[in-house]
Amino acid sequence: MSDLTRMSAAQLAGVIAHGEASATEVTEAHLTRIAEVDDRVHAFLHVDAEGARAAALDVDERRSAGEPLGPLAGVPVGVKDIVATRGVPTTAGSRILEGWRPPYDATVVERMRAAGLVMLGKTNLDEFAMGSSTEYSAYGPTYNPWDLTRIPGGSGGGSAAALAAYEAPLTVGTDTGGSIRQPGAVTGTVGAKPTYGGTSRYGLVAFSSSLDTPGPCARTVEDAALLHAVLAGHDPRDSTSIPQPVPDVVGAARLGATGDLTGVRLGLVREFGAEGAEPGVMAAFRDGLDALTKLGAEVVEVSCPHFQYALPAYYLIAPSECSSNLARFDGVRYGLRVGDDGQKAIEEVMSLTREAGFGPEVKRRVIIGTYALSSGYYDAYYGQAQKVRTLITRDFTAAFEQVDVLVSPTTPFVAFPLGSRTSDPYQMYLADLYTIPTNLYGGPAISVPCGLSEGLPVGFQIMAPTLADDRMYRVAAALESAVGTLTPGELS
Ligand code: GLN
Repeated sequence: MSDLTRMSAAQLAGVIAHGEASATEVTEAHLTRIAEVDDRVHAFLHVDAEGARAAALDVDERRSAGEPLGPLAGVPVGVKDIVATRGVPTTAGSRILEGWRPPYDATVVERMRAAGLVMLGKTNLDEFAMGSSTEYSAYGPTYNPWDLTRIPGGSGGGSAAALAAYEAPLTVGTDTGGSIRQPGAVTGTVGAKPTYGGTSRYGLVAFSSSLDTPGPCARTVEDAALLHAVLAGHDPRDSTSIPQPVPDVVGAARLGATGDLTGVRLGLVREFGAEGAEPGVMAAFRDGLDALTKLGAEVVEVSCPHFQYALPAYYLIAPSECSSNLARFDGVRYGLRVGDDGQKAIEEVMSLTREAGFGPEVKRRVIIGTYALSSGYYDAYYGQAQKVRTLITRDFTAAFEQVDVLVSPTTPFVAFPLGSRTSDPYQMYLADLYTIPTNLYGGPAISVPCGLSEGLPVGFQIMAPTLADDRMYRVAAALESAVGTLTPGELS
């Protein structure tokens, strides 16, 4: 394996800017690595070698011409396959979008291209980002580079595994209920969910529009912040995009890396307790907490009494919104069409297309959501869940009057064996116990490695108030400076 694939994005950008390696060499090193290991990891659904080479050459030419380059110019990136990429297949992990090549780029992709990042390809995910293990991808699962018999988390398991397998130094994910942070936690990588509306949803295949948030995945906190700075910012094409400047997340990460957290108050949510988390996960989390207190932070216990209702509220709100969003997959507008023999009615073609094109988890959610939104049930289910969402938001607001950030383990358990939770949806949903409250509230949160349990990575979650994304990066970088990054063994 080439050393170039072991470097952080910040290091690679430096190497390219100083002419020690060209963007083309960096790209080739990663394409070679993908060719060597991805048959075992299956992080990618599509590798765009030609597009990557052209983008790298463009950076090299601009550099030779003396043009100023952005801080991540020439650095390769993988993009979760639920983000539209012009001319490059975008499946959302579903058969129903097989073969679809979007005619446009998502805003986050457009911004990365403008910044000179080199897109290597599209990463695997649970179908329409619904899941916690990437086992619901219609194209087969991704395998965790720490142990190929285990899940890499989900829904963005491909984006996380690509980092842990050194196939890419940066990837993009989307977080609706934890799909950036939970895969980060179980692969020993960093995953950040920005403030909702801080990154544009334009060009994301919509799952749950009031929750979906694209964000950065990386192997270091500084790299995540660097990518965050490229992705974030107001976009007039997204009506929920926040028309405010992006906080200085890179500066905050660099400040945190100096290892001083004097005066920073960390809130421990009483209701999260030890309940539901494996003892080994709790032990690693406690070690992380100790490390932060040694840097000067203070730990305060806070009460968020409605967090216990976050999971049930989410599993009404997200399916309701998805049942509405997925109505566009009708066999007419995009991708798959089944049974159109010129004889059948459009309803029948639509039904045959959906029957063949959607997997079981997607069907389950569309049915739950349609039920929760139907007249007579709307107030009892969807309306009620929205009220719970308000109470959860109030819990966060009250907590942030006492503390600067909230902290918890990212997930209750380490990476589980493939197949062990697919037959029980509730067990799968539990993976997001600690990540979902943040999505309902809309604030930023990050997962950073804090140690191992049974030889597998454990993630430490830091949740900050809305628009205080810089604050979470500061604490995250401080933790990383104390506990270091995690490196999996060689893929045999
Ligand atoms: N695992 C959660 C779900 O299945 C979250 C998914 C996500 O964040 N996209 O809905």
